Amino acid sequence: MSECFRNPCRFPKNVEGPFYTTGSQGKDGYWCSNCLWCGAPEAEAPELLAELNETNSDTYFVRQPSTPEEFAKAISACLVCCTAALRYGGKDREIIHKLGNDPEMCDFIVSRSGNLQCVVGADGKLRPFTQKIVRKSRRQSHNDTKKWWQFWR
Ligand code: SF4
Repeated sequence: MSECFRNPCRFPKNVEGPFYTTGSQGKDGYWCSNCLWCGAPEAEAPELLAELNETNSDTYFVRQPSTPEEFAKAISACLVCCTAALRYGGKDREIIHKLGNDPEMCDFIVSRSGNLQCVVGADGKLRPFTQKIVRKSRRQSHNDTKKWWQFWR
């Protein structure tokens, strides 16, 4: 398995491997996934994510992708999550590129100099230098969803 980042916010039920979901641990020690219930990521990659049912409301990877089709599904599942709780911790540049080289979804991004940079600190939070990149990519995606007449606003 390729080397990948071990995010301290990784939801513990995720299977080992680069794709994972983040979670939060309560004072009682109980973990809850940061993505739950709506089923949008599960619809993109039903074979890779735990089934949502009466006994499970957490989104997490039960299997890592192993074919090009499954990689595409895992990437789609990351992209569809509105809280960026599905992440990629690996170093495959093609996957990072498909995820927009976005710190909100990738633990490593490709810097301007072409090197891989880890964007997550030991506390699981994005490192300060990523703030500018995140703001820019949010602005970009906001512009992407604007109608033509809204560009003058
Ligand atoms: S995709 Fe968004 S709305 Fe749906 S469960 Fe995940 S965080 Fe919630």
